[in-house]
Amino acid sequence: MTEYRKVYDEVRSVSGGKAVLVSVSKFHPYEAVLEAYAEGARIFGENRVQEIEAKFPLPENRPEGMEVYLIGQLQRNKVRKVVPLVSRIESVDSMPLIEKIEQEASRIDKRIDVLLEYNSSGEEQKSGFISADELCDAALFIIRSCPHIRLRGVMTIGPLGYDREKNMAAFNATRDVFQRISSLSDDIDVLSRGMSADWKEAIEAGSNEVRIGTAIFGERK
Ligand SMILES: *Cc1c(COP(=O)(O)O)cnc(C)c1O
Repeated sequence: MTEYRKVYDEVRSVSGGKAVLVSVSKFHPYEAVLEAYAEGARIFGENRVQEIEAKFPLPENRPEGMEVYLIGQLQRNKVRKVVPLVSRIESVDSMPLIEKIEQEASRIDKRIDVLLEYNSSGEEQKSGFISADELCDAALFIIRSCPHIRLRGVMTIGPLGYDREKNMAAFNATRDVFQRISSLSDDIDVLSRGMSADWKEAIEAGSNEVRIGTAIFGERK
């Protein structure tokens, strides 16, 4: 048993049924993924390409409806490997990476969903676009020039610690950049923020996708 059902019910109730739950299974074995799947989970988040490769069967051999999203930083030399394995990359943080994803998706004739990662807290150890303008330029580039990429929205990680003001500032900045890009395409409808420690606040501030690991699967070893 995982805590998937409990977390799912809470997410539904806090969001009025509007937020999507990504079950973050990194560091947990495939058996735990299958338990959560049996409890109703369908979307699994992983942050390393090698772990996805080692843990999950190929997409055609996965249980019906199971999807894997990459939520961790992606190096260009891993793009070829990961594009066939996931339905969405949530951590797209540079123009060279976008160009590489387009090239590899085109090579296998796949259209892949992406979120652009925004470094909304400005913290140095975080990845993501620091500049909202650059993120918007990247969004325009995808829409105009990348037929194998479907831009779905923005992903961000909240600031470290529990400072309410910092949290709100980061969230407002994310919502601004999301609103700027959402006028570019009808496909853009995902604002992904919120993890085990801060997902309620994130939903209250407007997030419609939360990525939760620890509260579902327990501590990572
Ligand atoms: C690990 C991770 C999560 C989940 O974190 P928990 O605190 O375990 O819920 C969410 N998003 C990203 C990008 C992560 O790397």
